[in-house]
This record gives sequence, structure tokens and C-alpha cells, in this order.
Amino acid sequence: MLGASKASSQPNSISGRGSLTLDQLGLKLPAPQPGTAPAEVKPKGVFNAVLDESHTSLMLQESCERAWFLGSGIAPGIDEHEQRILRSLSSYMNGLGTVVHEGIRRVLDAHREKLNPEGRVLKSPTPYEFDRISESVLERFSFMEGDSWSESFPNGRSDRDHPRFREHVKLKAELVGSNNPAHVVLPESSPDARRFERCREILKQALLNWHELMYLDRDDIFRHDPRALVPAGGLKRVDPALILEVEEKNVAYFKQDPFQILSMGGLSIPYYEIEAAVKDPPVPELARRGVSANFTFRVKAVLDFVYLSFAPDGRPRLVAMDWKTNALDEHSGRPALVAQEEHTTQLKHYALYLMQRYCDVFQRFEPEIRRAFERSGRPVPKLPAELTADMIFLGDVYLSGEQLSAPRRFRPVCAADLDLDAFVHTLRQRLVAKVGKFSSISPPTSVLSRWAPTGLDEGRCQGCNQAPLCPDAPADVKSEWPLSTVGLLSILKHPTPKR
Ligand code: SF4
Repeated sequence: MLGASKASSQPNSISGRGSLTLDQLGLKLPAPQPGTAPAEVKPKGVFNAVLDESHTSLMLQESCERAWFLGSGIAPGIDEHEQRILRSLSSYMNGLGTVVHEGIRRVLDAHREKLNPEGRVLKSPTPYEFDRISESVLERFSFMEGDSWSESFPNGRSDRDHPRFREHVKLKAELVGSNNPAHVVLPESSPDARRFERCREILKQALLNWHELMYLDRDDIFRHDPRALVPAGGLKRVDPALILEVEEKNVAYFKQDPFQILSMGGLSIPYYEIEAAVKDPPVPELARRGVSANFTFRVKAVLDFVYLSFAPDGRPRLVAMDWKTNALDEHSGRPALVAQEEHTTQLKHYALYLMQRYCDVFQRFEPEIRRAFERSGRPVPKLPAELTADMIFLGDVYLSGEQLSAPRRFRPVCAADLDLDAFVHTLRQRLVAKVGKFSSISPPTSVLSRWAPTGLDEGRCQGCNQAPLCPDAPADVKSEWPLSTVGLLSILKHPTPKR
């Protein structure tokens, strides 16, 4: 059923070969599959609920495909309002991560220089005040807390500035359940204020760690980095014209060459494309004719920071970083094993995205490269014709905690060492299997019974945001949630007057 990728059909694995290319991975062009009719199914410009993926959504499907289906909005016969509320729930740590990212983005945006296609400066580097940025993101975090508790969501919706924290919803459920109207009528003061205070401390420290250790290289660590991925003096020394991405996103889901839109200074959602052969496509017309098809899937990949740099001998490096606020083990200085594995998978998605998005980086960004070398007084080296995996380095930067030096927080890997060919092969299989659960992809049509509560199968359902809608949620998971989130929220909006 599944056509093997060009790469994986090679007799010898290509993993580990430095010059791994898009072509070797079968990602450059749709690979013709033997026995496959030439029908092609490509997503249109708008977000496609079936064909479009992200690392987060793939991870969710891996832990419980039922959870993905319930959160997708496709499931028939469920309360749409409740489904939307459950889907929008955030957590304290997500809120914290959002504001840490914002603080860092503001420093890097100030640092950045943008040229137009003719090489003229569109945006110059500007000064920034770290203390003010730090104060303002802390303030935003406080607003998030207040807004979540007081239910004052603009338009009744929830967004990143006005999240509904699931911890709050559960707390409110307890308060209503405890039948203590004295508590219920005090929605403006959070009974969880202490946890928020701790989060604020983590937030402040994480921002400071990033600024002092990574950006300013306070400990002068990067001078001794043999791979020369971060310049001596820290990220502050990255040439402003060679910053390629700072969380580039997201005003619309453009299909019309988003890469070009990005290079013009516009915004779009970054993603990479992956093709796979589907034998029995859920497209009525093709199914009637018994025609197979090549599907194009898109995987969203929003990287926190991407820049180009050159080693002292002129070898180019495309460096990508992702900021993480996970709790770290105090002995190893690393996050939990599960998080490490998950983060490595995410880096693989990023590596594929970078290979597609920047395959012609040396030609497309030649004016920026020339400008950077002029600034440094070094001669421009001979530039390669194509970006290959051995030139790409990626790493998560763990920002939480104290007393950890930059090299322990940032352990980059080379894309050539990530077994990308095996990863692409497995990903194709997963995408094809998922499409097989639909009876139609346009409009997306499927039924709950096709989406196994895999968490339960493995005896480890930890619950999820969709638990109130899940017929298979175990009793202990259900009991943490109000019977109906909609009902609970309406009680809290119109609480019983204080007696
Ligand atoms: S409650 Fe458990 S089984 Fe049900 S969707 Fe969530 S994780 Fe899956």
C-alpha cells in the first residue's frame, strides 16, 4: 500500500552521510510510486483539518488518537461550544512559555536587520531595554492570570492573551462542587495565586538566563565552542542581516509560495511538505474509479530562531534554536526522558523544514551574506550550490533553573546525524494510516469508533483536555472535570449572590 521513499528504498542506509540532500530523502519532488496512478491530492491555501500537521498534533495522536479526533472539531454529535472551550484550554506553563518567547523575540527583533530584494535596508537594528521588556512580559503574565479567573474574555473567546487555564477551570469545578458560594462569588481573586507567584519567578529567571548566558555570553563560553555555532560573545554577535527567522508566523495560511512571501518580509505559517502514496484515497471520485493518489501533506514548523553563520575556515552553518521552559532535573540538568525524546522528534521536523525552506539559501540570501562579510572585513568564501544536512545544526535551549552554564543548556545536533531517512519513512506510514480513517477528506468525515482511545489500550490514559467528551475516559479522569464545562462557566459568570 505504501510506496517506500526514494531514500529508504536504497540498499544501504544513507543515515549519517554528511551530504544528505532533499532528493535523497524523496522530499524534493513527489516521487513517482510504482503502480500508482498519477492522481494528486494537494491541500488548498487554507488550513486543512485532515492533511495538515504539526509536531504537537502528531505527538497528541501518538499518545491518544481519540484525543486528536475529539479536539479536531470533526467529530459528529458533540456540543460544539464545549468542544471549542476544551480545545482552547491552556496551562500555566504554556502561558509562561508564551511570555518568555515574547520577551526573547522582542530582543531579537530589535537586533535584526532586514533587506529588501534589491539589497536595500528595510529595517535596521535598534536598541532595546531588557529590564523594560522583562517587566512588560511579567505584567502580561499577570493579566493572563486575572483574565482567566475573571472570565472577562473578549468576544467570549479565549486566545493567547486571555487564555482559559485548565487549572483554573478545575479549581472552579471544585469550588462549585464544594457548594461554598462564598468562594464562588470571588472570581477576581485567584485561590491559586501562590502557584502563579512561583511561575513568575521561573519566568524571570528563564528570561535572565537567556539574556545573560546565550545572548551576552556572560561566561565567555562560546569562544571555546569547537563547532563555532554561536559566535564568541554570544548571539549578540550574530550578524543582524543573517538572522533568517524569529518565530516567523502567522497571519494566514498561504499556499501561494509562502517562502517567497517570507523573504519579502511578509508573514505566513512555515511548513514543509511531504508526499505519500495512498492506495484507497477517501476522495469519492477517485474511490469510485479505483484510482490511487499521491497526497501532499504539510507539517507546520515554527522555529524560535534561525541564523546563518560561517566557521573561521568559511564553512557555512544554518543554526536553529528552540527555547524551552521545561523543569530540569537538578542532578543531570536535563528535562525528563520523555520530554527529551519528544524534543528530538521535534528537531527532526525542523531539520526537514530547514532543508526544504532553505535549499537555495546561499543564492537567495547572497546580498545578506556579502553585507555580513563586508562588515566583518573577511573575504566571502565560495558558497555551496545547495544546502545539505551536514550544514544544519539544531538544538533546544533549556532556560529554566539556575547555575547551569550555556553548554549544558544548549547541546546542538547536526541534521546529518538525525536518521532523517528513517524518520521520513515512518512519518509517511503514519500519515497514510491517518487518512485511511476518513471516509472523505473534503469535507473531512469520520466517526469516533475509528479513533482508538490508545491511551486506554496501553493502560495509561492520563486524561486530556477532551476527557469530558470522551466516552472511554476512566472515572478518575472524568471526576477531575465538571460534567459540562459550558454549564460550569455559565454558573461562574452568574454566580449565586453572596449571602
Ligand atoms: S480521556 Fe483518555 S482515552 Fe479519552 S481522549 Fe483523552 S486521553 Fe484519550
